[in-house]
Formats: sequence, C-alpha cells, structure tokens
Amino acid sequence: MTEPLRSANVHFNDQGTPVADAFDDVYFSNDSGIQETEHVFMQGNDIAARWQACTQPHYVIAETGFGTGLNCLVAMLAFARFRDANPDHPLKRLHILSTEKFPIAASDLTRALSVFPDVAPLVDTLVAQYPPMLNGCHRLQFERWHTQLDLWLGDVHNLLPCWHCPKDGLVDSWFLDGFAPSKNPDMWTDALFSQMARLSKPGAGFATFTAAGVVKRGLKEAGFTIEKRKGFGRKRDMLTGILTDAPTLRTHQPWHYRYPDTSLGNDDTVAVIGAGLAGSSIALALCKRGIPVTLFGKAPEPADGASGNRQGGFYPQLQASFSPPARIQAHSFLFASRYYQQLAEQGVTFTQAPCGVLLLAFNDEVASRQQKLVSKQLWPEQIIYPVTKDEASALAGIPMQQGGLFCPLGGWISPQELVNAQLTLARSTGLLTENYDCPVDVTTNENRALVTAKQSGQQWSFSRAVLACGHHSIEQSVLSHVPLRPVRGQVEAIAEHAPLDSLRTVLCHKGYMTPAWQGRLALGSTYVKEDITCEPRREESEQNLATHAKAMADYPWAQNIEHDYTARASIRMGVADHQPVVGAVISPDTLTHRYEQLYKGFRPADYPLNTSEQTITVLTGLGSRGLTTAPLMAEILASQWCGEPLPMEEVLLQALAPERFMLREMKKKPQ
Ligand code: SAM
Repeated sequence: MTEPLRSANVHFNDQGTPVADAFDDVYFSNDSGIQETEHVFMQGNDIAARWQACTQPHYVIAETGFGTGLNCLVAMLAFARFRDANPDHPLKRLHILSTEKFPIAASDLTRALSVFPDVAPLVDTLVAQYPPMLNGCHRLQFERWHTQLDLWLGDVHNLLPCWHCPKDGLVDSWFLDGFAPSKNPDMWTDALFSQMARLSKPGAGFATFTAAGVVKRGLKEAGFTIEKRKGFGRKRDMLTGILTDAPTLRTHQPWHYRYPDTSLGNDDTVAVIGAGLAGSSIALALCKRGIPVTLFGKAPEPADGASGNRQGGFYPQLQASFSPPARIQAHSFLFASRYYQQLAEQGVTFTQAPCGVLLLAFNDEVASRQQKLVSKQLWPEQIIYPVTKDEASALAGIPMQQGGLFCPLGGWISPQELVNAQLTLARSTGLLTENYDCPVDVTTNENRALVTAKQSGQQWSFSRAVLACGHHSIEQSVLSHVPLRPVRGQVEAIAEHAPLDSLRTVLCHKGYMTPAWQGRLALGSTYVKEDITCEPRREESEQNLATHAKAMADYPWAQNIEHDYTARASIRMGVADHQPVVGAVISPDTLTHRYEQLYKGFRPADYPLNTSEQTITVLTGLGSRGLTTAPLMAEILASQWCGEPLPMEEVLLQALAPERFMLREMKKKPQ
C-alpha cells in the first residue's frame, strides 16, 4: 500500500481492443467487450435474479482488475435499469469495489470505451472523477446510476486484506477478472482466494472468464462451490460458484471493529449535535441515505464557530512519506475536491475558488523539507508539484522571491456558505429537522441516545447521536478519555489594496493569505492553545501581521500591510496526534474491561462489539483542516452506520478511531 504506482502501457490491436504491453493480453474480448461482460460477469453471477431476491438496501460487487472500467460501467447501467423497472424494490444502491495495480491513462480508457455507445454518459462521469496515481481508495459517485464506485489502486494482494469487513461479510458478488492465469500467475493465488472468502457474505457468488485448474482448485479450497459454464465466444468454459463455507473471523483487530450489529434504516432517527462543517457534512451524508436527522446548533444560526470564517484555505498537509496522517490528508483532499465539484453541480451555491495553493519555500529549512517531499515522487502532480520563482510569480500574480510547491486542485472556500449549502441540500430531502439556539447534553439509555436541551430541559430520544460540535465536545462527559485540545485561532480580514489585490492564488508560509473576496482577504492565523474565548484581539492581529512580515522578509509590501483590525477569532478542536476523531464512543470502563489482556496480544472474547456501543458517535478533531477532511470523515461514519463498504483502508481507519488513545496505553504492559 505504500509503494508508488506504475501506470499501464497500452496499445490498441487491429480490432481496436486495448492490449496491456506488460502482459501481452487484451483488456476484453476482441469479439465484443460488452457481450463478454454480460455473459461472463453479469449472467455468470446471476446478477438479475440476485438483485430481484435482495432484501437489503444495497448490493456489493467486488472486482479484481478495473482495467478500462467496462465491467463496472455495464453493471451500473444494468442497475439503473433495474431501479427504473422496480421503483418500490428494497434494493436502492449499488456499491462496486474494484482494484487496479496498473491504472490505465484516462485517454486510453476513453479511447477503449468509445466503441461502446451504450456506456458513453458513464464514461464522461468516470473520466471527470478519474483519480490520480495514488495507492488506496478513491470513492467516485455515479448518482444518476444509483451507484458508488470505490476504486482501490494498488495490488489486489495488498488491498483486500485492508478492507474492513462486517461480521456477516461484505461482498455479494465477485467479478474475478485479471489477465489470464498463464500470463499473470502472481494474481491467481490461494492468498487471493482466501481473502475473497474472508470478505464474502454467506452465499456470495463469483464468476470468472477462466476455467484454469489453479483457479478451480484454489476457490474450492477457500470454501466456494464450483460450476463450469459455457465460456464467452471462442472460450470453451468459464467458472462460477458460491461461498458455502463462510469463515468465522473476518477481522484481525476486532478491538477496532466499526460496524454496529444492526445497520441504520429509514425507521431510525439520528441526532447531529453541531451545525458547522462536521455537523452539516454528516447530516447531508445521512439524509442522502434516507435517514431522518435532527440537527442541534448551540447558536441562533449554523456555522457560528470555526466554520463561520469568511474564507478558508483548502489543501492537504503532506509529508515526505506515505505515513497514515499524510495518506488520510491526501485521500480526504481528493475526495473533498470531487465532492465540492459535485455539490456545485447539484444546484446549491457556495463560493469556492479553485485557484490553487502556493506553498512558499520561505526559508532554507522549509525549502529542504519541500525538496525531500517532491524528490521521492510519492505524490502525483495533480496533488502537488514544485515550482520555480518565476512560475510561482506567474501563478500568484505578484512577483515572488522564492519558488515552492503548488497544489493545483486547492484554493479557498467560504466555509460558512458551504455549511449552508450542505444544509440546504439536506433540507431538500425532507428528512432534516433543525433546532438552533439549543445547547444540549447527550446521554444513553437502553440503546437509545437521549438529547436534553440545557435551557428548557426538553428531551428527545434517537437511535444514534453524533457529537460534531467542534470545541464544545469538551463539554460532553462521554469524551473524557479523548485528549481533546481546543485551540483559538484569529484570522484577519484585510481590506483589499495593492499589490494584494492582484493575488491570484492562496499563499502559504508560516501563515496563509487568500485572494480577496468582496473587498477583503483572509490573513491568518494564530494558534493559542487551551484558550476558548472568541473576541478578536489587537495583539493577535499584530502577531498575524508580524508572522507574515517575518516569513516574507524579502517583500517590501509585506512589511506594512494596511489593516483596520477587522478580525474574527474562533476555536478549532484538535487532538494530541492531530488526526480527526471519527467513530463510536466506547466508554473507558468497557475498554478497560474488555481489552485488559491486549498487552499480551489477546483478542477480546466478545467479538463483534455490541450495538449499544454505537449509540453515541463522534466526528471531531478536524482542527483547522475541516475543509479537507470533513466530507470523507462524514462518508466513513455514514457508511459504517449503514453497513456499507468503508472508503478507507483498515490501518487508516484505526488512526481515526476514538478509542485509539486508550488502546495505545493498554497495549503497554501495566507497571
Ligand atoms: N475488468 C476490466 C475491464 O472491464 O476493462 C478488464 C480487466 S483486465 C483483463 C485485467 C486487469 O487486472 C488489468 O487492468 C490489470 O492491470 C489488473 N491487474 C493485474 N494484476 C493485478 C493485481 N495483482 N492487482 C490488481 N490489479 C491487477
């Protein structure tokens, strides 16, 4: 999962079919790619009958080689037809998980699929979201086709063990694709087949174009029944089958288990505490899934806290390694970038300027850190690339004295407008109830979340509650074991003046500066630990200006930025390890009791954990990075509650778990 990816070299043969040079094998049949997909993978898996018989709200297909995406697009097309023909059927969503070790260029993909007019609109939607070459999960949305595609880039052998699995399995049907076993023997191994069994629901099916002995024997050994069927075109046989021998333990670290016993359904109700970026993101993610939400805001309006700033920089905080924090940032950023684009396409307006972010190499230490970051070529150029002083000047619109790094997908966003846009969309589902000016306490009672208004004493009962209330999380006693760290930050609103009125990109050094919007630009920010007061302070304005003057010592204009002391201060909620905190809040007593033998490496006896522990959940610790992380964190939480596939690998999910702080201690031998 941590090695950089290599892209596929592809040529097109005389029939116009794409061929992978390294494997000397075709991506799909020369006879007809679409008919092959329908015969082998759709009919081979009896997909039509399985969808009809499905009683769940979603169906999961997993594929071993994404290639051109043809199989996935054909499945999406069929699913959209199924939904049209069966509007009242309980099955509403298709989730496809597909792995790819050697992604093909978007231009090759477009050319390969151009011969299939049926999938043309899907190809446009795929190409618009096609991810850069970065290992891990990229969640793409195909709303018109009621489908979500998790494109997992990397080697299937590294990826499948990273999928977090519900206790009854994750996958309904497997599209076992990949180049022929004779040409790609490394893929078709027992390790792959046993991972398929680990991840399969009981009775899950598979279909594959090959009938090779090694595949037949391996799948049988892993617990699948095997049936030979007539192959496609000139192929004599192919294989299909179902899992009859389901494994009992599907996760290696049950103490980080995420799924509740029972998934949320339309009869459930959820309380969202907090009306900022975190709260509005999770409210929308749930409403979109048909779950009724009641939102509680402490202030008279949404976005009153850190999410109420006029402008916020949007970019990932990367490192010169694929560390969990850097990967969480990179994937969150890519997801958010697609998500904001799609929000805008859904008709809600919020101000976002995808003007890029320039990270200045403003001193030798930073320059050498930046050099290290790019020299390893870990991060794709779509995320970050080095720029010279001249290039930086052209991008910034103001002469720069240094080069640095440029993040082309970044920019700035109005967080306040974004919060309102998300709430507008959530409202449009008819599933959102809002209570403002209503500070609350949250407790549990018999698997229900009780929300009590602090002022009136009024009480509500919900299936679940999520604490998404930024620094007000410290007031919730259930989070006493999470090392929450509120930090005050003041941002200046500088009236536009030359040469800053020419600034065209976000500038970052020790602080940051955005291009102007409505006559003012944002210049920030202070970080005052453990201070939860919000009145703007003149000395912090001076501090912000001094930080900029020092970092930009070679810029005469930066030495005396005109300021009328218009500023806003708010509190960001961080935690000790600077990662978001996302998931169920398990009480310290339960953790202590259940995991007291963890330091000896013992598993808890009662796996999986019970539902009552999912009643109160948290989404906080976004610090000053909420614009980057909130959408994917909300997606993780909503997916976990609804029993859907999770859009992140296991080790990164563990780095987000609220119990991580206590478990780190419990892994140490008691003194
Ligand atoms: N399903 C594809 C489609 O609809 O276009 C065609 C798949 S093509 C025959 C096989 C794919 O498997 C290639 O894209 C190849 O790069 C990928 N592949 C091969 N070995 C792999 C591995 N170990 N892990 C992940 N993907 C792999």
